[in-house]
Amino acid sequence: MLTYCKRCVMPDTKPDLHLDEEGVCNACRSYEKRIEVDWDRRRMELLDILERHRQHGSNWDCIVPVSGGKDSTYQVIRMLQLGLNPLCVTSTTCDLAEIGRQNIDNLKRLGVDYVEFSPNPQIRAKLNRIGLTEVGDISWPEHVGIFTIPVRASVQFNVPLIIQGENPQNEFGGPAAAAENNVLTRRWLEEFGGLLGLRVSDLTSTYGIEPKYLLPYQYPSDEELQRVGVTCLFLGHYIPWDGLSNALIAQANGFTTFNKVVEGSMVNYENLDNHQTGIHDYFKFLKFGFSRATDIACLHVRRGRITRQDAIEIVKARDGKFPWTCLDKPLKDILEPLDMSVDEFIIVCDRFTNKKIFKRDSSGALIKDRDGNLTKINYDNQ
Ligand SMILES: [Zn+2]
Repeated sequence: MLTYCKRCVMPDTKPDLHLDEEGVCNACRSYEKRIEVDWDRRRMELLDILERHRQHGSNWDCIVPVSGGKDSTYQVIRMLQLGLNPLCVTSTTCDLAEIGRQNIDNLKRLGVDYVEFSPNPQIRAKLNRIGLTEVGDISWPEHVGIFTIPVRASVQFNVPLIIQGENPQNEFGGPAAAAENNVLTRRWLEEFGGLLGLRVSDLTSTYGIEPKYLLPYQYPSDEELQRVGVTCLFLGHYIPWDGLSNALIAQANGFTTFNKVVEGSMVNYENLDNHQTGIHDYFKFLKFGFSRATDIACLHVRRGRITRQDAIEIVKARDGKFPWTCLDKPLKDILEPLDMSVDEFIIVCDRFTNKKIFKRDSSGALIKDRDGNLTKINYDNQ
């Protein structure tokens, strides 16, 4: 049985999520505290930091890590509005979708200098496979790279300030100390930045991948970080963050949405850049009983746009569907670079499925519908 937050629809199986004595999760509490925040003061603090980092044409003012998604498009728009000259840096996704490429091109046309870094695809495919089969996360290399590569760019181009978007611990739930942290530290990355128990050093010792192939997944040395004075800040700490309004602003600036609601999600304006995301999100469902539709529904429940009951219906209908396609690409084609068949994939899925939270038959086997979809034992607390 899953226990859900009484205010949103997040189950307490989510790592780092806690329900308090009233049954309300820390992400809902964190959102509630936003009313107390003095946003005018925070904005002044931001302007002050940006002013101190202005290079007046001698170098770029800051690095903005961009995926081409709605949030990074919004970040770039805000930086340009404030008169900054950012260097935008993309660490490419593992299987970039056509619409993701269009949105990267759109972002460049906003009027910025832009660098794209693509780690070795042969090594990356190996890491996707290791991530999927060993820790149940196909996106391990991507989620490490989105943190390490902008920091490498900061050192390489000697631009100390890195502007990140939302601190995922703020609204998606995490320890209080992490949510209050507005500066990205090595410790934060190691704890929450998607490492999931698989360390870069393990890849050499256990899987025999030579260290020279792992440079994109590692930080520069402490000495280099200090020489440049690398500083990261989360824009969401200074400006109230909302995915939907970011999407609206991005769309008004040329950002393209998908032609329908994204598979396993409930909206068409995010998760548009990587065909592997469907697999990543599906494994969250297998392990913890929630996936992308739950994430998005919770954000909208907190903002009063849909009721909790609406969210439960949406989650039942859309969350955690078997990922036969992602952004219209068939599963077998997505698995091809990993040298994995759909049958083999299903075996890996079953291995990572938390059997306690899904319906099973009298022999204990998971009940799947004809499309391979599982049903949770409970979608609410009763
Ligand atoms: Zn909640």
